[in-house]
Amino acid sequence: MSTAHPSDNHPAWGFSTQAIHRSRSPLDGSRAATMPIYQTSTYTQPLDGSAQQYEYARGDSPNREALEDTLASLEKGRFAVAFGSGMAACDAILRTLHPGDHVLAGQDLYGGVYRLFEKVYRPQGYDIDYCNFDDGTWIRQIRPQTRLVWLETPTNPLLMVTDIEEVAKQAHLHQLTVVIDNTFASPYLQNPLVWGADLVVHSMTKYIAGHSDVIGGAVIGNDQSWRDQLKFLRNAAGPILSPFDAWLILRGLKTLALRMEQHSRNAEHLVEFLGNHARVEQIYYPWTQPISHKQMGAGGGMISFVLKDGTTDRVYNVLRNLRLFQVAESLGGVESLVSHPATMTHSAVPEEERNQRGIVSGLVRLSVGIEEAKDLIADWEQALL
Ligand SMILES: *Cc1c(COP(=O)(O)O)cnc(C)c1O
Repeated sequence: MSTAHPSDNHPAWGFSTQAIHRSRSPLDGSRAATMPIYQTSTYTQPLDGSAQQYEYARGDSPNREALEDTLASLEKGRFAVAFGSGMAACDAILRTLHPGDHVLAGQDLYGGVYRLFEKVYRPQGYDIDYCNFDDGTWIRQIRPQTRLVWLETPTNPLLMVTDIEEVAKQAHLHQLTVVIDNTFASPYLQNPLVWGADLVVHSMTKYIAGHSDVIGGAVIGNDQSWRDQLKFLRNAAGPILSPFDAWLILRGLKTLALRMEQHSRNAEHLVEFLGNHARVEQIYYPWTQPISHKQMGAGGGMISFVLKDGTTDRVYNVLRNLRLFQVAESLGGVESLVSHPATMTHSAVPEEERNQRGIVSGLVRLSVGIEEAKDLIADWEQALL
């Protein structure tokens, strides 16, 4: 918001202090202790030459701006632009490209982003190559038409971690824009802009909102021209976040630090339990990869593992035994969820390619919630009997 924030004078405030206090001041002099919901589509015009902060709520609105201001500070960026979903945020970035432009994207992408690249942008003449950013080979795939590098770290569903600083350094030698999808880590565990990324995208639906009850997305960055372009596109095309959804997400964001600490702690207990279980063949967790210690504060709440001799039927039998972990897509909420990538999130990927990429029928993905660790372990103990 353009009004002064209590934290403007307190740049040293820590994560949770920013999350809780940046957005507290209402605009209306009511002395409300938290920000009310401005559920209005339009604002009256003074006609006296005085400055008008809000006009029509497709443009700017107070709840969305409060969320954006808080999110920008937590991601250590100069601006955030919120959208009606994570996909709308991704789409807004891609709309700034032109037919003939080329994108280098990570191999392990969220299915919806892959679909947007392949089913929406490629048919319009955009070109996308999927590459491995963990060795230098991707650099040879850069062409004069390459504009963007787009990757997730940790990835979905194998939770592989890529060195953001190293990729950004190489990409900037070629004037490429580096976009990091930071949904799995959240701004509490990882700030890609600090490591040289140009733009961060979030599905706020996941950890940022944190309660599996709202859909939203955002782009965060430092460059004013990106901010202007994204805000122009949002107003022109209209993929906005409603006042109530912005309010819900900001309410969730205030407890992000507490939640991520508990998600990570619970996940570490489960990694230890599952990693030593006779029926578990392999386990994937970001914190077991040394590079994660450089750029992440903890391992987060996502775990994947491979069930030994894990046919789809055997995996389904185990999942049916679970009482606390609910079988569902999505992640990042307070409640624990489990999914079977081969038949759920990644069923559209051909089987041969799935197996090649490690998304085998025995692979199970967990979004570990913030319940009591001992209850979560007991749930898997009885399910794997
Ligand atoms: C969920 C998700 C998205 C898409 O976000 P929506 O809010 O569902 O539109 C993008 N990237 C990642 C990594 C996701 O998990």
